[in-house]
Amino acid sequence: MPSPIDKLQKFFRLEAERGYDNRAVVGGLDKILPSWEKEAQSQQLDAALLETVAAGLRQYPALEPAARAELLNRLSEQLQAARPAEEERRPRPPLTVLDVPSSRQPLPREAQLPPENRPSGRKSRAQGPEAVRPPETANTAGLKAGLTVLPGIGSKHAQTLSELGLNTLEDLLYYFPRRYDDYSQLKPINRIQFGEELTIIATVQSSTNRAFRGGQGQMTEVVVSDGTGFLRLTFFNQPWLANRMNRGTQLVLSGRVDQYLGRLVMNNPDWELLEAEHLHTNRIVPVYSLTANVTQKWLRRIMFNTVSFWAPRITDFLPPSVRSTAGLVDLPTALQNVHFPATQEKLRAARERLAFDEIFLMQMGVLSQKRNWQSLDAQRFPIAPEWLEEQVARLPFPLTGAQRKALEHVRQDLDSGHPMDRLLQGDVGSGKTVIAALTVAMVTHHGAQAAVMAPTSILAEQHMRTFTRLLTNNENGDALLQPEQIRLLIGDTPEAEKDAIRAGLADGSIRLVIGTHALIEDPVNFQRLQLVVVDEQHRFGVAQRAALRAKGQNPHLLVMTATPIPRSLALTVYGDLDLTVMDEMPAGRQPVETHVLNPLERERAYHLINTQIKEGRQAFVIYPLVEQGERGNENSAAVEEHARLQREVFPTINVGLLHGRLKPEEKEAVMTRFRDGEYTLLVSTSVVEVGVDVPNATVMLVEGANRFGLAQLHQFRGRVGRGQDKSYCLLIPDSESTVENERLRAMAETNDGFVLAERDLEQRGPGDFLGTRQSGFMDLRMANLSDVRLIEKAREQAQAVFAADPDLQDPAHEALAQMLDRFWSDGRGDRS
Ligand code: ADP
Ligand code: MG
Repeated sequence: MPSPIDKLQKFFRLEAERGYDNRAVVGGLDKILPSWEKEAQSQQLDAALLETVAAGLRQYPALEPAARAELLNRLSEQLQAARPAEEERRPRPPLTVLDVPSSRQPLPREAQLPPENRPSGRKSRAQGPEAVRPPETANTAGLKAGLTVLPGIGSKHAQTLSELGLNTLEDLLYYFPRRYDDYSQLKPINRIQFGEELTIIATVQSSTNRAFRGGQGQMTEVVVSDGTGFLRLTFFNQPWLANRMNRGTQLVLSGRVDQYLGRLVMNNPDWELLEAEHLHTNRIVPVYSLTANVTQKWLRRIMFNTVSFWAPRITDFLPPSVRSTAGLVDLPTALQNVHFPATQEKLRAARERLAFDEIFLMQMGVLSQKRNWQSLDAQRFPIAPEWLEEQVARLPFPLTGAQRKALEHVRQDLDSGHPMDRLLQGDVGSGKTVIAALTVAMVTHHGAQAAVMAPTSILAEQHMRTFTRLLTNNENGDALLQPEQIRLLIGDTPEAEKDAIRAGLADGSIRLVIGTHALIEDPVNFQRLQLVVVDEQHRFGVAQRAALRAKGQNPHLLVMTATPIPRSLALTVYGDLDLTVMDEMPAGRQPVETHVLNPLERERAYHLINTQIKEGRQAFVIYPLVEQGERGNENSAAVEEHARLQREVFPTINVGLLHGRLKPEEKEAVMTRFRDGEYTLLVSTSVVEVGVDVPNATVMLVEGANRFGLAQLHQFRGRVGRGQDKSYCLLIPDSESTVENERLRAMAETNDGFVLAERDLEQRGPGDFLGTRQSGFMDLRMANLSDVRLIEKAREQAQAVFAADPDLQDPAHEALAQMLDRFWSDGRGDRS
């Protein structure tokens, strides 16, 4: 029989867990007073104490949560002090919610960190090895302690948790639930209704086992009552429950209310003894992702202990001014409530705070990176406007207004004395390549070297042609570069040629190198690399861009992307880059007409291709890679279909075939023939997805279209509509049932990459369109990059802090500085 003190403290704990919402007891905490007072008197509890408790509890419902917490802590200490002496020697459970920092309890021994785990402090503070950290200052760095410091976690459990990626206290605190089950609706039995998910507290009246399904199964029927009514519980195949649930046992039950033969029942509810702390019932219950070796209940218990003890001891790194301006809860509260929220509202506030942190830290890092980069000196390349006009005049077309603007930005950057760091964003077909070529011209004009990196060898090869055409045009005898000064370096470039290229780059005789990853994978050295251009930059990881940049001394950087993202998002994700948006298509372009066709309508697609080819145009047919085993060889769909199309459908025209298994020179040969019009139809896998530019092509037919993402489909469509002629994009899904695919419909509705990007963000988050997968931002666990409101709030706050104290010298920013160091050292840094 628990003592009256135990009983009261149990309710206090429950109340604390629930965030002091006065619902631990049905009707309010004061409702336990009458029976408790009686019991306490009968056990001869000190009358003064009894009076204090009674007065406190009567006040309780009227208090604010903070005051409630304080009151219960105070009462709890007094109750503790009044325990009989032998009780006091019993160890207290080490980790309870009441262990808030203000309590004068010393840290449990296990939780005192070994000296090497104590924070060294940024401005290395003197701290003797014997110094024992008082709990109030156990700050974020201490959270790097391994999990075995937690009671109940030995090396075996630590190993298991490590399989979930959980190695430190901090990992645990930031291991957010996958979802929540809301069992917080505590109700008396006479008010429950069919279909509700709720929690009741009740006493067992009877429990019986019986067999069912002819003895194959065992069913335990338990009848409980809470004074307002009776409820039947049914458990299947757990006959031992009948013994655990003896008459008189008090239970907390959570689950869904069902109906059986017209009566309300609960089948297999989650249950706990009322004695236990309520963790798995009667609350919003967190549900974590698990490995096979861990049960939800076990992990939840570990999380609960860790969170309730450690979260309150965490130093909030956000300056209070930021917190209050942004209307955020403090970090201890957020961490507690994200795991064990008392209410949905508290959960929402917790998530908002944690999401804010991610964007805020990202933005702080990006800002300081930008400043570091800008504080570097770079070579100036002063370009006379007249000279530039001459180059522009040589182009086969007039530039668009957007291209002119981009060119002017670049011209100023190159003459600023600091490294250019510019992102050129323009939808597919907007004409970014020519800007890159003119940028190369400006730098090589001054005798420096430039490197252009593209994600595929097909694209690198195409750039090789385009740049050569644009830069060696010498009708006036004053070509910018000689053909031999421009070289292509890709993975399959023969070794001897690679050697020659390396030598030419090292001695400066080669001025422009165009290539793929090979540019950074091979030991390439430059004599004087002053410009790095990265095309389709979302296809590269940040480290790859940084690697290329590192081959020069503070070279200028131009990165290009067709990824259309909202401006606020671009500024956050690529906030260290200056942004130029090319929001204008070259004159005379007609929007591509897009149709989603039923597989049975394929003949119509072939008919259109035929007509277009008769008119002198060209077409692509794309096949998805099929899974290994689906049809054998991964390129076989394209290979087989190529044979069929050539033989049965287009016997009179030359059909080319392109796929990833071809050698680079074979690919190059196919592309050349297609570009030269020898092939009028090209069957391909997705290798032509990015960058390929054949303006005479007017039909893009995508088979298995439902298998591609929106960004990819938009890129495919971007391969046509690049000239003056009307173009078509035909999307054929695998089967009739996928015709209604949302992505395909979106494609048919709009040509606008921005609109599609926003759709994609809504549907799938930022990974796909942003190409953020490689850039580390997929690590954002809480922030949703489509939440523009939050992003803007976090950006504003980061800018304000950065403007006021860019080096975070202010002592009030010390915790923030530490947090930033850690955030950016977790692989999120190294942006370029
Ligand atoms: P992207 O921005 O997708 O890389 P490209 O640079 O490949 O686009 O340009 C697409 C096509 O448009 C190319 O054939 C290019 O020659 C052509 N082009 C670029 N600028 C103009 C312009 N101002 N007027 C007409 N055609 C242009
Ligand atoms: Mg391009």
